[in-house]
Parts: sequence; C-alpha cells; structure tokens
Amino acid sequence: MSEKKEQKNNNLLSWKETWKVSLRALKLFYHYRPSMLWIHTFYTIYTALTPFVGIFLSARIIEELSGNKDPHRLTVLVLFTLGLSALLSLIGSLTRRHFKVEDQFLYWLERQIRADKMLRMDYALVDDTKVHEKLNTLDQYSDNAGRSLRRVIWFYDMILSGIISLFGGFSLSVSLFTSKVPESAGGLTALNNPLFIVLIIGLLLAVTYLSPIFVVKADAIWAKGANDHNLSNRLFGFYGFLGAKAKIAEDIRMYCQETLCEKHNKSKEGTFHSNGYYARQSRGAIGIYYMISSIFSVIFIGVVYLFVCSKAWAGAFGLGMVTQYISTISKLSGKVSSLFQVLGQARNHAAFLKMNFDFLDIKNIMYHGNLPIDKTDVKNWQIEFQDVSFRYPGSEQYVLRHVNIKFHAGERLAVVGQNGSGKTTFIKLLCRLYDPTEGAILLNGTDIRKYDYQEYLSIFSVVFQDFCLTNYTLGQNISAREEYDRVLVEDCLKKAGFGERLNELPLGTETYLSKSLSKEGVDMSGGEKQKIALARTLYKNAPFIILDEPTAALDPMAEAEIYSRFNEIIEDKTAIYISHRLSSCRFCDDILVFHKGAVVQQGSHDSLIQDSAGKYHELWFAQAQYYTNK
Ligand code: ADP
Repeated sequence: MSEKKEQKNNNLLSWKETWKVSLRALKLFYHYRPSMLWIHTFYTIYTALTPFVGIFLSARIIEELSGNKDPHRLTVLVLFTLGLSALLSLIGSLTRRHFKVEDQFLYWLERQIRADKMLRMDYALVDDTKVHEKLNTLDQYSDNAGRSLRRVIWFYDMILSGIISLFGGFSLSVSLFTSKVPESAGGLTALNNPLFIVLIIGLLLAVTYLSPIFVVKADAIWAKGANDHNLSNRLFGFYGFLGAKAKIAEDIRMYCQETLCEKHNKSKEGTFHSNGYYARQSRGAIGIYYMISSIFSVIFIGVVYLFVCSKAWAGAFGLGMVTQYISTISKLSGKVSSLFQVLGQARNHAAFLKMNFDFLDIKNIMYHGNLPIDKTDVKNWQIEFQDVSFRYPGSEQYVLRHVNIKFHAGERLAVVGQNGSGKTTFIKLLCRLYDPTEGAILLNGTDIRKYDYQEYLSIFSVVFQDFCLTNYTLGQNISAREEYDRVLVEDCLKKAGFGERLNELPLGTETYLSKSLSKEGVDMSGGEKQKIALARTLYKNAPFIILDEPTAALDPMAEAEIYSRFNEIIEDKTAIYISHRLSSCRFCDDILVFHKGAVVQQGSHDSLIQDSAGKYHELWFAQAQYYTNK
C-alpha cells in the first residue's frame, strides 16, 4: 500500500468505529446537559417537518384555484394556511431562542468536559507534559480548526433532520407513483408502468449516493488541512493582534517588530491567503468536487420535473399536485443528499472524536485505599519515610534516593538544601501527590496508600511556592467555599500578618482579589498574596501545615513579624517548613538537610552547626558571608 493511502486510512475510522465513537460523544453531552439534547431534538424535528406543512397547504390552494374555484373553500384554506403558518412561526421563534442559547453553551460544555477530566486525574498525570500536549492539541483542534467534540451535535441535528425529511417527503410524494394516467391518454399510459417507480427511486438513490461522495471528498481535503489550519490560527492569534497588545507596545516600536506581522499576515502563501492551501484547493479539487456534486442533483431534478409534468399532462393529477410533488421531491433530494454528505463528514471527523476519548480515557494509576484515619490521637501521630526513592514518571533519573526519616506530630521540621536537591519533591510525596518509586511512607505505622485518599489529603494544609489564588473574594479564597465563617477568616488573616491591610479594605473579607469580577476588586502585591495563602492554610485547620518558602515575597519586617509569632500561628499543629533563609529555621526542633536527593543530615540547628564538614555548616556560612559582605 502506498504511503499516502496508508496515511489516509490511518485517519479514517471504519463505519462501525465512527458510529461507536459518535454515539459515545452524544451520550457524554447528554450526561452533562440532557436539556440541550432534548431542545436540539425538538427543534430539529420541528424545522424538518414545517416546510412539508407549507408545501401541502400551498398545493391545496393551487388545486382549488385551478379546479373548483369555490370562494368559501378558498377563504377557509387561505385563512387556515395563514393562521397555521403564524402559529408555526411563533413556536419556531420561541424554540429557536432556546436552541441558540444551548448551541452557544456547547463551547463551554466541551471545555468543562476536558476540565473535569483534568480535575479527576491523578496529580502525577496532571503534571505530565504528555497529558498537557494531548489537552493542548484538543483545545487547538477544537478552537482553531473546527474539529471539536461538540461537532457531533451538529451531525446529530443534520442526520435527524434528514431522516425526518425522508418521512415527510415520502408521505407527500407516494401518491405520485400510485395515481394512474387514464386510459384515454393513449401511449402516455406507459407512465403507469411500475418500472418508472423503480427508475425514479433508483435515480434518487444513485444521485443521493454519488453527489455526497464528492462533497465528502472535498471535506476530506479540508480535514487534511486541519494541522495547518490550527497552526495558522495560532500564528494569527499572536501576530494578527500584535499592534493591540499594550504590554509589548514599547518593544514593537523599539525593534520595528511590526515587520514580523507583515510577514505572517500579508504573505500570499499563508494558509488562508490567496495562494494558500485552502484558496488553492477551493479553486482546484474542492471546487471541482462541489461542481460534480451539483450536476448530479440537477440531472435528478430534471428527470423528476419531466416525470411529474408528463403524468400531469396525461391527466393523472392536477396543478396542485404538480406543485406538491415538485417541491417535495426537490426538498427531499436536497435533504437526502445532505444526509449522505453529513454521514461522510461524520466519518471524516470520527478520528478527532477518538482523539478526545483517548484523552478522556487516560486511566488513573494511583492506588486508592479505603482505610479511615483515626483522628482521636493526633498528638501522637508519627510519619516515617522508609527507604524512599523516587523518580518522576517518564524520567530515568532518581531525584530522591534512600530517604529514611521519622518525625512526630507537634514538631517544627525545617527542610533545607540547595535548589534542585529534592525538597519540594519530598513534600509532594508526603502529601501523596506522587507515590514513591521504591520504599514506603507510613502514617502511624500504616502505608499511606492504604488510607482513603481524600481523607489523607485533608490532613495537610500546604502553601506551595507557586500557590494560586482565585479572582473570588478574600473570604472565599481563604475558605475555598462560597459561604464562610467571617470571624474565623478575619482571625486567620490577622495571624498571617494581614490584619492592618484588612482594616483598610472597605469591603473587608468581601473584597474581590481582582478587578476582573468586580470593579471594586483589589490587586494584591506578592507579599500580600503570600499572607493570604498563609491565612488559607490556617483556616483549613489541618493537623499538618506545610510551608514551601512561605516568606519569599515578604519584606524583612513582615518576615520578622511572622517568625516572631510562628508558634502562636501554628499552635499545636505539626509544621514542615522549607526555606532558603537558614536563619529562619533556627526556631525549628529538627532540620533535614537535603543534598542531591538524599537526606545528608538531620538534627537541631545547634548540633548541625557544630559539624564543620557538614552541608548545613557550608550552607549556613555561605549565607552568613553573603550578608556580612553586604
Ligand atoms: P528543590 O525543591 O529542592 O528545589 P525539587 O524537588 O523541586 O527541588 O526538584 C528536584 C529535582 O527534580 C530537580 O532536578 C528537578 O529538575 C526535578 N523535577 C522537579 N519536578 C519535576 C517534574 N515534574 N518532572 C521531572 N523532574 C522534576
């Protein structure tokens, strides 16, 4: 098989797989928002059927006009047609509003489906670059190339509309074949021959089959350009708006960066430009495929006109029925042909749906036990790392090696060491964001993997270095809930050194932490944010408080204030504390010194400083010298 053909086949799923993956996508949307699918179903059936009502009634009016011309019957028919049309149009407008709202919402629904998956994933997977690559690819295909998960709803609408039109069209056109040409028509009685039924239906099937083949071929050319489409939209998203980005306006002027935009926005070879992929294909293959597809439809309509008019001429039916048959079959042929087109397009699209499910099916690997944690004796808890070694998933290199340590509840434990020595990784293992590659971590003698995962997470309150606050109110940020205990929030903020700033805020704990959700919102400084993050750990009231560089963004005064009240802040909880400023570890009972992934020393400041060959001594004097030289 040629390479080209092989590549094509790789992207095209079988009909069975297409059906499976599309149905699954529909079910997923239904699971998230049943009302959306019901409204789509109702609106689609409604809009597919109403044209046939119009065709039927218009035919009756024409029939009357060209036949009996009874004024009373005509008046009733016209009034009924007008009244029904008004009613149908009213119902249509009312449901269209709902339909449009639901349709707009689909974009967010798709985003929510992927966001929910990320929220349910093991942290180790969330931290994995391969997972992020998959997510970004899906977002980009969906936003920039029209290859989204939600496109399945459009296919659903189109297929349903096609099927309903088949029923509507069939019921209005079946009498075309059953009404007989009278014997008086002479040779034209041949039109009564059932062969004509076979001929017309055969032609309808041939056209509806052949015509979409070419449209689907054209769509496949679009699908092939999805990567380029995607990249070009991303490039345009950047270069197209370069002039509007206030933050880089100075650089653009200093370095005349607008020439970069010209290259990307004005080049005729660009994907969307006059010599680009889509323009070339539209002038060439895509245009030709669409033309061939239209020729088939025109031939079919021509044959239908000939057949219907001949039968009418021969006296099988009147003018009203001619209108009914011609309109119905034209509509039907258009609908059936687009039904086949959509089926082909759905098949072209199925590979993109599958990509979505490849992402949504990523399996969590972490073992989740169900043992409850006995919280009656928190003061006597003990944590132990038993010969723990760890390497990040997908990496060959160990970042922690044979870590053996023990510490008890109520202790203040400092973790020090140079950058990259493994301190944060140690904390991530302790909080079970990752599991050790070798060895085990025990809480009160039991492997932490055996505990109920959510319950285990609940015993830690952490301020990570790259902590994240949301744009919600101060109180909601600290409590992580919509409703919160205001007095407790204020108390935690005061303990975290935010008391004075809180008094200056007219809306107090109801102050939004950004102007994006409220114009009264306040943008906090780095140091203020760090205090808020510290208050958040206190509000959670977990037995273990972990602080990773908790004072890095604080000014020296604020830092000194926090340390002077550290015991008051932490109360009887266990505090684990990572810091580069060794002077701030002095108040800790125990200090762990990390070096190249191993714990090289453990002890109090006074004992560690005695060991002049030790790492702690080296780090301490390196910093002291720095401050002295200053
Ligand atoms: P520290 O907190 O002491 O600065 P870390 O625990 O953050 O050190 O990092 C220890 C080592 O692990 C470093 O070499 C770092 O590059 C590596 N590392 C950290 N995070 C990841 C990750 N998600 N994937 C792969 N390697 C990582």
